[in-house]
Amino acid sequence: MSLKILLSGAKGRMGKAIQSIASEHDCEISFSVDLGDNAEDGIENCDVVIDFSLRDATRSLAELAKQYNKPMVIGTTGHEKDDRTAIEQLSSSIPIVWAGNFSTGVNLLFFLTQQAAKVLDLNSNFDPEVIEMHHRLKKDAPSGTADRLLEILKDSRSASEQDIIHGREGMPGERNVSEIGSHALRGGDVVGEHTVMFAGIGERIELTHRATDRIIFAAGALKAAKWIRGQPASLYSMQDVLGLTA
Ligand code: NAD
Repeated sequence: MSLKILLSGAKGRMGKAIQSIASEHDCEISFSVDLGDNAEDGIENCDVVIDFSLRDATRSLAELAKQYNKPMVIGTTGHEKDDRTAIEQLSSSIPIVWAGNFSTGVNLLFFLTQQAAKVLDLNSNFDPEVIEMHHRLKKDAPSGTADRLLEILKDSRSASEQDIIHGREGMPGERNVSEIGSHALRGGDVVGEHTVMFAGIGERIELTHRATDRIIFAAGALKAAKWIRGQPASLYSMQDVLGLTA
């Protein structure tokens, strides 16, 4: 029997991509939600809730998922800290896969970045910078994927939020050894590109992922939806779904 999905953000780019391949993944969209629709009308009859809408919409949908005891897959990015904290707390009651990027390749990039960051640590004399590029219509910056890469670098170096430097302008002075640079490029129809650069003296390492079709995110989200069903309440990443843990 196919997995019944309540899909929020159904009329958006990702919503349409998910609908176009749902049946190939043995899933059916049992209820579609977009601006102005009421998710409560379809939540009882679904197995899993998938959210690819707008950052302000996720929290109330997650509260509804908790009320009806439904697992949730969150793809929406750019949430405010308050909302992030509230949604994280809800994962003590329902299982949630929350990923800024559902592609297998990007999750391998997360894994490789964790490995590289262990070797190229604060004492190694390599400077980490994260560069991302997306289409001109993207609303948030940096991307959820870049945020995750920055978090991996920050945690690995025991750095703080203040060490993450978003863009540089004017006279920022010499680069501080603790800095982790972050740069967001926007333009055209770029689906999503991320580079983690470790710049040393006389050498440089770059780990790059390029997405050329958003169908990879849709396929990953459906894979996560099938995986999350039956898991105990907790907050999971796509690395958990793929079994890629450092
Ligand atoms: P989009 O703007 O094309 O679509 C968003 C849709 O959500 C629109 O149809 C909009 O009307 C709808 N919406 C707005 N408010 C809503 C509400 N309150 N309830 C339900 N629907 C609502 O955007 P997109 O490119 O499809 O991306 C959607 C989100 O997913 C963004 O946050 C984007 O950054 C993120 N995204 C994540 C991944 C990933 O792998 N995690 C990949 C691509 C995009």
